[in-house]
Amino acid sequence: MVDATWGTGEPPRDVLSLSGSSAFDASHPPRADLIADCVHCGFCLTTCPTYTLWGNEADSPRGRIYLMNQGLTGEPLSDSMVSHFDKCLGCMSCVTACPSGVQYDKLIEDTRAQVERRFERRPADRALRAAIFALFPYPRRLRLLRGPLAAYQKTGLQRLVTRSGLLPPLLSTLNSLAPRLRRVPPPPRRVAARGTRRAVVGMLTGCVQGAFFPEVNSATVRILAAEGCDVVIPPGQGCCGALSVHNGRRLEAASFARRLIDTFSRFEWDYFVVNAAGCGSSLKEYGSLLADDPAYAERAAAFSAKVRDLSELLDELGPVAPRHPLPMTVAYHDACHLGHAQGVRTQPRALLRGIPELTLREIADPELCCGSAGIWNILNPEPAAELGDRKAANILATGAALLVTANPGCMMQVAAALERQGASLAMAHTAQVLDASIRNLGPSSLSR
Ligand code: SF4
Ligand code: SF4
Repeated sequence: MVDATWGTGEPPRDVLSLSGSSAFDASHPPRADLIADCVHCGFCLTTCPTYTLWGNEADSPRGRIYLMNQGLTGEPLSDSMVSHFDKCLGCMSCVTACPSGVQYDKLIEDTRAQVERRFERRPADRALRAAIFALFPYPRRLRLLRGPLAAYQKTGLQRLVTRSGLLPPLLSTLNSLAPRLRRVPPPPRRVAARGTRRAVVGMLTGCVQGAFFPEVNSATVRILAAEGCDVVIPPGQGCCGALSVHNGRRLEAASFARRLIDTFSRFEWDYFVVNAAGCGSSLKEYGSLLADDPAYAERAAAFSAKVRDLSELLDELGPVAPRHPLPMTVAYHDACHLGHAQGVRTQPRALLRGIPELTLREIADPELCCGSAGIWNILNPEPAAELGDRKAANILATGAALLVTANPGCMMQVAAALERQGASLAMAHTAQVLDASIRNLGPSSLSR
C-alpha cells in the first residue's frame, strides 16, 4: 500500500508490490524507470571519489544503481548493500558526468530514506548518528559550543591535543575540523538597500554558517545591500533540513522545511538567498520534498522557485557597486552541492573575474569532492582525510594565496587537510572576497 500520493509521477507497477523482506517498501523506493536510464557506460566511474579511492565497482555510481535494482527486484537490505550506499558521498559528480542524464540524486535520496527507515544499524553507528542529528541542525545548540571551543583554541589545548596524536580517529577528525572562530555581531533583522532598491531578498543564516562563520553572513548582507537589495533576516529561522534530507531523514527534513517556509511567509520578498552550497541545493528541492503534503506542496514549489545561491542572484542582477582592485591570486574550489547539484560554476568565477587585478586559478580534478560531504567526513574519517589531502595538494599546486569556496564544510575539511600537510593558506567565501573589493579593504583583509 502506498502511504501517500506520488510527487514525481506514477510509480512502476512492480514497485507497488514491494514488501516484506525486499530491500525497499512501497513508500518512495528508488524508481525503476530512473534506474533503467543507466546504460552502464561507465563514464561516471573516474569522477566518483569512492571508485577513485577503492576501484570497487560496488562503490561506483553504476554499481550502486545495480544494487538499487537488486533491492527493487527482491534482494533484502544486507550489511554489505547498505555499506555501499552509506559510502556514497552524495557529491553528485556522477550526475554531471553522466551522458544519459541518470538522476542519481533522486535515486540515492530515495534509497537513503529507505535505509534509514528499514535497516537496523549497529548501536555505535546509531548513537553517533543520533548525536550528530541532535546537534548540527540546531543553530542555538551549535552557538553554545562557541565559548568552549574558543577557550580550547585560545589556551593552546587544541594544539597540544593535535600534536599528541592520541585521539581515536573520530575525535581526531572533530578536533581537526573545528574552525577558527571570529566574533561578529548577529545581523539585524532587516537591512536597507544602498541607493536604488532593485530587489527584496530573504536570507538564510544557516546552522554551521551562522554559528561558526558569522563573518560570511555579515559579508553577504553588506554585498546584497551594496548591490541594491533590501535584506530580510528573521531571527530563529532554524535549519533548512539539508543535512537531514541528504542522510535519509526525510520526515525530519520536511518538518524543518515547513517551519522555514512559515517563518519567511510572514514577509514579502522577491528572492531567497543562500550562501551555503548544501543548503541551497536542498532548498531548491522543497517542491519535491513536500510534494505529498497538500497543505504545503504548492507553497514549497513556489518557495523553491525563488531560491538563489548568492552568486546566482548577483550574476542575475548585474553589478552596480564599484569594485576596487584586489591584487592577489586566488583558487576557486567548486563545492559539490553548488557545482554538481545546482550547476552553479560560471557565476562565482564571473564575479571573481570582475574584481580588478584579481587573478583566478583553476584547481586540478575540480570534479572530485574534498571529502567533506555534509557529515560524511565524520562518519568516514579515514577516506575523507585521503580525499581532503588530495584536494589540498591540488589547491597548493595552483600557487594561489587564497582559496575561495562557498560552503562551510569544504572550508573546514580543506583547512584540516592543509594543517595535516603542514601548509597554511588563507580561505574565504566568495562573499568575503567581493565584500573586500567593494569596501576597498585590500588583500591583507583576506589573508587572516
Ligand atoms: S554521488 Fe559521488 S560518491 Fe556517490 S556515486 Fe555519485 S560520484 Fe560516487
Ligand atoms: S550512471 Fe550514467 S555515466 Fe554512469 S554508467 Fe550509468 S549511464 Fe553511464
